[in-house]
Amino acid sequence: MRKKIVAGNWKMNTTFAEGEALVNAIIAKKGEVKSDVTLVVAPPFTHLTCLAEELEKAGIGLSAQNCAEHESGAYTGEVSAKMLASVDVKYCILGHSERREYYGETSATLTKKIALALKYNLTPIFCVGERLDERESNRHFDVISAQLEVLTQLSAEDFARVVVAYEPVWAIGTGKTATSAQAQEVHAFIRKALAAKFGAAAEQTPILYGGSCKPSNAAELFAQPDVDGGLIGGASLAADDFIAIAKAF
Ligand code: PEP
Repeated sequence: MRKKIVAGNWKMNTTFAEGEALVNAIIAKKGEVKSDVTLVVAPPFTHLTCLAEELEKAGIGLSAQNCAEHESGAYTGEVSAKMLASVDVKYCILGHSERREYYGETSATLTKKIALALKYNLTPIFCVGERLDERESNRHFDVISAQLEVLTQLSAEDFARVVVAYEPVWAIGTGKTATSAQAQEVHAFIRKALAAKFGAAAEQTPILYGGSCKPSNAAELFAQPDVDGGLIGGASLAADDFIAIAKAF
């Protein structure tokens, strides 16, 4: 049985007080979610230290949205995987399309980041996904295969600790969701590509869907055999919606 995960990517939203209120509201409703569904939240860096204890007690995973590609040193403004681990962060989103697009993250950068995340025992939530032009020109499988090379370089032991998120860029924050059939097609493709390298271990890899996932479409997406949960952007900023999505399992 694969782990089911619903993770909220808050992006650059919420003041600390707003973030704390959001966490409290999620904790208050967590009992409504089936116990085999793991909830994860990824607040901005500034909130992590203060939210860690409360989330840990509630059994909710704490994630960062990024980490540095370097171990430590003269990299002004960066936050390392070691620092994140030192404040009890457990997950780290890596390769989000906004990081790839606005901050020039490439597979080379992500290879370094994922190695550091794993070194410090953070679970990477590694995002892949095609842009609209890539889908329209039927290149989406090639694009995703190339992005997955960051994972296929890992040792089997490290690979077993990775969570994957399929996030078609054209569906992120646009209100346009991939159909459940489109999501399933790509999730099955990802699993097959990973199985080609890692064999049966790929059967255990949670593959989350992300891109305008909301309470009204979550159940259909999560019912697909290779969709193991969601990486939720906009809808994770409202506790009711986030919990309703998690209840869709
Ligand atoms: C995301 O950016 O990870 C995401 C899935 O965003 P949204 O749910 O807002 O489309």
